[in-house]
Amino acid sequence: MPKSLKGRSVIVTGGSKGIGRGIARVFAREGVRLTIAARNRAEIDAAVAEMAAAGATARGAVCDVTDMESVQRMVDEAAAAQGGLDVLCANAGIFPQVKMVEMSAADWDHVMATNLRSTFFSVKAAIPHFEKRGKGRVVVTSSITGPVTGYPGWAHYGASKAGQLGFIKTAAMELARYNTTINAVMPGNIVTEGLQGLGEDYLKTMAASIPLKRLGDVEDIGNAALFFASDEAGYITGQQIVVDGGQILPESLEALASI
Ligand code: NAP
Repeated sequence: MPKSLKGRSVIVTGGSKGIGRGIARVFAREGVRLTIAARNRAEIDAAVAEMAAAGATARGAVCDVTDMESVQRMVDEAAAAQGGLDVLCANAGIFPQVKMVEMSAADWDHVMATNLRSTFFSVKAAIPHFEKRGKGRVVVTSSITGPVTGYPGWAHYGASKAGQLGFIKTAAMELARYNTTINAVMPGNIVTEGLQGLGEDYLKTMAASIPLKRLGDVEDIGNAALFFASDEAGYITGQQIVVDGGQILPESLEALASI
């Protein structure tokens, strides 16, 4: 059993919904001090109430991860309120679908800013706090889409998620001097508000194409994030783990049908 993270100071961006909320819930049960950062105040408040009931000392922060100043302020205020910073979960992200023939430069830039530039912003903002603490953990939510698989409509999204994996390699080297690790979780298809927006047909077809025959639960990702944040994972950095029920494994439809 990993040592408890009780009392650690944790930030989860995009913690008001979906995977971020699942990550927050798993950390909340450890009794951490937690900041949930997102844009929608009502959804943040609902998540904060849930996390407090689950065992965390929880607070919310309205923050737009595409805005460097907003991220800096959120991270500094979280560290001030929580007595420093131990764990940053850089999770906020979007996945609007648009095929390249219709994709505008603004579409591309918006996804890159929300998913990739934001990762840099939050890690940069956290560095002084990890330096002060003498240690730290960053867990990035990437995806199988981009680094491993493709899906029409998600060229920009896939590029942003692959970009996060490129980012963590050099970030791991730069963060090492602060005794801080950075790793990524690569979810497959996880049931979230965002994914449900893609419709019933998408969810059904997707579940059928996964060897474990179900979509993932947000806590499946939370558990992987908790491991990377644990003391026991202290010698792992710049790495990634796929959490997808085996989705990327079948070589063909026939291979999938034969299990
Ligand atoms: P979701 O249910 O739509 O939740 C997204 C979260 O990010 C919300 O809390 C949202 O809150 C926040 N957010 C979005 N834009 C933001 C911004 N500009 N500033 C601050 N917060 C922002 O999505 P999800 O499915 O949980 O996805 C979360 C992460 O998991 C993303 O990085 C995504 O790429 C990754 N992922 C998801 C899946 C999946 O199957 N669901 C698979 C692979 C990877 P506000 O809207 O209030 O800001």
